[in-house]
This record gives sequence, C-alpha cells and structure tokens, in this order.
Amino acid sequence: MPHDRNYKDPRRLNRQARNLARQRVLAQQTPCGICGKPIDDSIKWPDPMSAEVDEIIPVSRGGSATDLRNLQKTHRCCNQLKSDKSLAWARQASQGKSALKPTAIPFKTSDW
Ligand SMILES: [Zn+2]
Repeated sequence: MPHDRNYKDPRRLNRQARNLARQRVLAQQTPCGICGKPIDDSIKWPDPMSAEVDEIIPVSRGGSATDLRNLQKTHRCCNQLKSDKSLAWARQASQGKSALKPTAIPFKTSDW
C-alpha cells in the first residue's frame, strides 16, 4: 500500500472517468437512442423526459461505463423502460410493440 500522498485511488479515477464520459454524452445534441425522438435539454432531471445516459450493454453484463461507443443519450423514461434489457427490445417497447419478450428468442435472426 503506497504512502505517497499523490497516490491515486483507482476506484476514484474510474468514477471521474465515468462522470466525464457521461458529461460528454449529455452534451451531445442527439435524439433519444431508444425512441428516436428529440430530447429537450431544458427539462430537468428527474422529469421522465429529461436526458439520461444509457449504457447500451449494461455494466452488470460486461459493458463499459466509460467507452463512448457503449453510451447513448436517452430520455429518462426510455432508459428506465430499457433497464438491463436489450436495446432492440427497448426500441420495440418504446414504439408500443410487444413482439419480443425480454427473454424470448427471436424467430428471425436480425443482422446484428
Ligand atoms: Zn426516448
């Protein structure tokens, strides 16, 4: 255990990297990654239509919380809908479709 006062706690660095990545995603002027509708940045959290950062592959499933390719800007309500389910499922659910159940195996193979 280093006694150097400049020693940086890796967990603290991870949190800083995560916050920085989230700020960068929130600063983007992109539509919701789930429902595709615009996000009004003037709406303040915790309004359901406020902006949130979604981890496309949840961290609990091995996704990165700091890789911008795994992060997208979404509505808070859409992010809550998705929870830890797949992006494809959340997109269908946000359109009011229920063709896929979260645990169902698709009948057709998609291109991803
Ligand atoms: Zn949305």
